[in-house]
Parts: sequence; structure tokens; C-alpha cells
Amino acid sequence: MAAKILDGKAIAQKVREEVREGVARFAAAHGRPPGLDVLLVGDDPGSVTHTRNKEKVSNELGMRGRLHRLAEGTTEAELLARIAELNADDAVDGILVQLPLPGHLREHRALDAVDPAKDVDGLHPVNAGLLALGRPGGLAPCTPSGCMRLLAEAGVPIAGARAVVVGRSNLVGKPMAALLLAHHATVAIAHSQTRDLRALCREADILVAAAGKAKLIGGDWIKEGATVIDVGLNRDEAGKLVGDVDFEAAKERAAWITPVPGGVGPMTIAALLATTLRAAEARAAKLPP
Ligand code: NAD
Repeated sequence: MAAKILDGKAIAQKVREEVREGVARFAAAHGRPPGLDVLLVGDDPGSVTHTRNKEKVSNELGMRGRLHRLAEGTTEAELLARIAELNADDAVDGILVQLPLPGHLREHRALDAVDPAKDVDGLHPVNAGLLALGRPGGLAPCTPSGCMRLLAEAGVPIAGARAVVVGRSNLVGKPMAALLLAHHATVAIAHSQTRDLRALCREADILVAAAGKAKLIGGDWIKEGATVIDVGLNRDEAGKLVGDVDFEAAKERAAWITPVPGGVGPMTIAALLATTLRAAEARAAKLPP
């Protein structure tokens, strides 16, 4: 079977148009656009590109997107003070602290300082806790939210499906597993110490690969007819961007598969903007998101 391609670019475009309409409605109702504030400490080139893109795309959709560049030597107290200012600013609906932070800054101190109602990365313990408890009213991390939207667009049945998530990071693997569980999948989480990953993957009706290891998952690890969501972003020996899955081989067995690039990547920023709009609407209505 040759898999159908889950086109993240096209689906992300659809999400962006939904957000654009929602932003216009919000601005008309509240006299201001939703505000997304991104904090970047230091000059890591990858992070500079990512954060500039978040600022640019949010503004393109009619939001008030702002990137705050803080010097590499910013102290923890200075960073926390800046987060406190944004928490107190009513025109700020979403706050994103770009990770990784320079080594002298403790990430958990920064993440815990963000108002949970504005935590559009979903990394505050309150939001992670609500997701883990299966309770509504929280904000989920963007990449897993984008993956759920891809599954919904493909019409892949989740309830009762066997799902395997490879990777257990707080940013991707854990929240991905929690979202699949909330949609009634039977979920296994694999990580670097999992034994016989191949056998586990072969059971998966839905396989989400988020290990960050180029072509870790071979074509014969894929169950016939499975849906494969490849979150991984790696460079191969030739410097080409590849996922965690051997795409060419896997597409012969899967029913649906995301390409890299053009799969999960475009969904992440679209999901961030959708989450920011939701956070803005919830704050304006004085309700939990
Ligand atoms: P991470 O390094 O924090 O976590 C990787 C996880 O994979 C860990 O839990 C680790 O135990 C597991 N792992 C590593 N090697 C493994 C192996 N051989 N077998 C099984 N499990 C293994 O990374 P992350 O932040 O979760 O990101 C994962 C990947 O997804 C990276 O390639 C990252 O660049 C990519 N990513 C892409 C997007 C996107 O928008 N497309 C967003 C976030 C992350």
C-alpha cells in the first residue's frame, strides 16, 4: 500500500485562516487584537529564526506579536521581572519563553513564572497537570496539538487505537501521549531505554516519532495501514532535513504519513497561534481556556 501524505503545509494554512477570522472577530469585540509576546534570551541563531518567525506570522494574522530580545547575560531576576511585567499587562494574552535558555538560567523558574492563563506553550505545571488529569481548561503544547489536528484532518479513528509515542519529553512526547489518551487511544510511551522498540512500533495503529534520531524507525517497523506522524527534525549525513522515520520505506506500509519537511513543522506555529487566540478569548470571557 502506498500511504497518503498528511500535508502539514496545507492543513496549517487552513488553521491559519481560521485563526485570522477569529482574530478579526476578537479585535472587533474587544477593541484590540490578541497579543503574543515571545521572550528570547541570547543569540542562538536557530532560536532567533524561530522567534522572529513567530512574531512575523502572528502579525500577519492580525495579532499584536512582539519579540523581546534579552541579552545573553540576563540574570534570572531580570528575566522573572520581565515575565511579571507581561503577566500584569492586560494586552498580553500569550507569553512564550523560547527554549533552551542559556545555561545559567533555570528553565523551570522561568516556565513556572508565566501566568498559566497566558502559557501558550503549555509548559506551566498547572497546564501540564490539567492535561495529565484529563481535565479541561488548560493550554496544551503546540506541537502535540498540531499532531492531533493532523489526525483529525485525516479522519483517523483514535478511540480504541493502539498508539505508540517514541519520546517522552515534556514538550512533545508526554503531552502527545496525554492527548491521545484523552481521545481514548491505548497509549505506550517509548524512550531511549525501551527494549525492543521495533516490536513495540509494529503494534502501533498510530505511531508518533519524536526522538530526534535520523531514520531511527525503519520501514519494516510500521504496521500495515498505520498512521505515522513524524515529529523529528534531524540532518542526515548529506545535511538534508529528515525525520525519525525512514519515509521512503515507511510509506509503502502506512496508510497515512507526514513528510519531513512539510508535515508536523508547519502545524506547530499554526497551533501556537490557535492556542493564543483561545487564551485571549478565555481571558476576555473570564473563563478557563
Ligand atoms: P528531546 O531530546 O527532549 O527528547 C527526545 C526523546 O526521545 C527522549 O525522551 C528520549 O528518551 C527519546 N529517545 C532518544 N533516542 C531514542 C531512541 N534511540 N529510542 C527511543 N527513544 C529515544 O527532544 P524533543 O524536544 O521532544 O524533540 C524531539 C524531536 O522532535 C527533535 O528532533 C526535535 O527537533 C523535533 N521537534 C520538532 C518540532 C516540529 O515543529 N516539527 C517541534 C518540537 C520538536
